[in-house]
Amino acid sequence: MDILRGFKDILPQEMRKWQKLEKIARETLELFGYKEIRTPILEKTTLFSRGVGETTDIVEKEMYTFLDKSGESITLRPEGTAGAVRAYISNHLENYPFKKFYYIGPMFRYEKPQKGRLRQFHQIGIEVFGVQDPSVDAEVVYVDKIMLDKLGLTDLRIEVNNIGCPNCRPKYMKSLKNYFEKYREELCDDCKNRLNRNPLRILDCKNKTCRNIASNAPKIHEFVCDNCKTHYEAVKENLSKINVEFEENPHLVRGLDYYTKFVFEIITDKLGAQGTVSAGGRYDNLVEELGGKPTCGIGFASGCERLIELIDLGDNQSIDYYFACLEDYTTCLKLAKELADKLNKTTYIEYENRSLKSMMKKADKMNANFVVIYGKNEKEKGIVIVKDMKKSTQKEVKIEKFLENEVEKWQ
Ligand code: ATP
Ligand code: MG
Repeated sequence: MDILRGFKDILPQEMRKWQKLEKIARETLELFGYKEIRTPILEKTTLFSRGVGETTDIVEKEMYTFLDKSGESITLRPEGTAGAVRAYISNHLENYPFKKFYYIGPMFRYEKPQKGRLRQFHQIGIEVFGVQDPSVDAEVVYVDKIMLDKLGLTDLRIEVNNIGCPNCRPKYMKSLKNYFEKYREELCDDCKNRLNRNPLRILDCKNKTCRNIASNAPKIHEFVCDNCKTHYEAVKENLSKINVEFEENPHLVRGLDYYTKFVFEIITDKLGAQGTVSAGGRYDNLVEELGGKPTCGIGFASGCERLIELIDLGDNQSIDYYFACLEDYTTCLKLAKELADKLNKTTYIEYENRSLKSMMKKADKMNANFVVIYGKNEKEKGIVIVKDMKKSTQKEVKIEKFLENEVEKWQ
């Protein structure tokens, strides 16, 4: 049976990286006072069409939407912010003292699968509600960067931009429309459509010709209102004060409609075309648009699959004790239990009926530190043979002395 296109199994071989990623993300975010939130993977379709925006790629063509048995239109979440905002509103989290949240989990988008672009992928994201001060924008970038640093990622570039607000952005859009109109025939089909519906989106097109045309498009800075401008300048100042290096990219836009004022991306050159590992920004009107009291917000989302590609853990798997058991599994199980209880050591009891030679090979592949051999001879003598795989030495030990012997070894 084939797996769905664009879907991927995460296999045990890669799991240590995932566990490390999630552990470091949780530790870092908790360190800065962020609390985890888990929202449903399925939501009403209107949450996303209103939240993410009708003219975005996500809503226009990427959502997994279907009717449930009662005929209600539901959608697998394509991103985490809309759900977090809904949860904030419906659970009255404005009364909860912590206003900083994080989430980790799967997202779904019906995209063209390629390297770094899946139909089910995972994101780690944060959201901060109700803080207008530009220093929180800098905090969000800082926390993102620290998390990536702790994962051992290097050669990352931070790009920032001002994306304006519903007051000033329409003027910019008009100017973009005039500009791109001249190149209508050269634009890709998607961008021809974007030209009518949302010309800002053309700046985010991945098509080469569109990118070339976009490189000379008007820049937003000439159009933004004083409020957006002051905010953006203050964010940059704050970033500099905490020594976060960044570059301005006047054509940086995000794929979602809800962003206002400050947006950013963290990018690597190591992953080819899909180089953005984290992206985020401010969304000052989203809570209100989804039915809450006017409350500003800001956050980011990192793509886990792209981060996993960059994490290097060296040697991947190991086990403290491999039990090469040829006789009486219960005795081995008792010894393994003692190792786990008293020494907190990992063990693997072999139940496959293999020759000793093949078990030794397997222990080697598993990177076992010690092999405990228990066969017919050993059983008769009431002993086990403990083999030190690193030192290539071995020793016979009486079964009742086994634990004592091992405890000494680890002291
Ligand atoms: P892109 O421009 O690459 O399509 P986006 O603007 O759609 O990205 P966001 O919605 O902001 O991206 O998502 C944040 C991050 O999640 C991205 O920077 C990326 O790392 C990851 N991401 C987004 N879509 C996918 C996908 N289909 N497969 C894997 N990772 C993804
Ligand atoms: Mg996208």
